[in-house]
Amino acid sequence: MRHLERFATERRPIGSQAGDRARDYLAGQLRAAGLDVRVQRAIGADSSAGLASFGQVDNIVATAKGADATGTVVIAAHYDFAAMGPGASDDAAAVAAMLETVRALKGTALRNDLVLLMTDGEEDGTQGARAFIREHPLGREGGVLLNWEARGVSGPSLMFETSKNNARLVETFASAVPHPRGDSTMVEIYRLLPNNTDFTPMSQSGFTDVNYQPVEAGGLLSRSRLAEGRPVACG
Ligand SMILES: [Zn+2]
Repeated sequence: MRHLERFATERRPIGSQAGDRARDYLAGQLRAAGLDVRVQRAIGADSSAGLASFGQVDNIVATAKGADATGTVVIAAHYDFAAMGPGASDDAAAVAAMLETVRALKGTALRNDLVLLMTDGEEDGTQGARAFIREHPLGREGGVLLNWEARGVSGPSLMFETSKNNARLVETFASAVPHPRGDSTMVEIYRLLPNNTDFTPMSQSGFTDVNYQPVEAGGLLSRSRLAEGRPVACG
């Protein structure tokens, strides 16, 4: 909550001064925690919806080396938000959770390399994630991705989407998470919705990943309507 009060009280769409302020605050917090922090400035491009969109993005990329790495674990969440609100839930709460993760890991010897990726421009076509996988060396390298998202403002955190080759990852999720929640029904429902997140381009580029979000009671379909026989998200 302390972090949200600092960077999630004003609207911060892509390219806004509020977005710049959030970027500087978050990068400063990660640097103070001792991580190597860089800002990747790039042009994101998305043509997946049939209408091309472009935008300049500033992705925050913080890294910590593992002692005996067999690969890279990327935790990702987006710090931009759509223009209609400050996005304290979607997705600032996940970004704040990343800062808390850094605090909790302090003094812990990491086995694998860790990347904390705070993307920009997610709400305008996953622009930051697309620039990351296209141009950033760590994005091209691949690895395991935990993408933290939000739908609604309360409810349990559900693992609602996974990539191919996920058997070991799902086993790890089930054994390592204190209260794991997720089942294949959510994957099938989500497939019907016209939504995507940073997970989509990153899993298509070769990351093995899982996607989480807190979902309000009633789940995905309670906030949907039926149109032409297919559920369409309106939340
Ligand atoms: Zn989001």
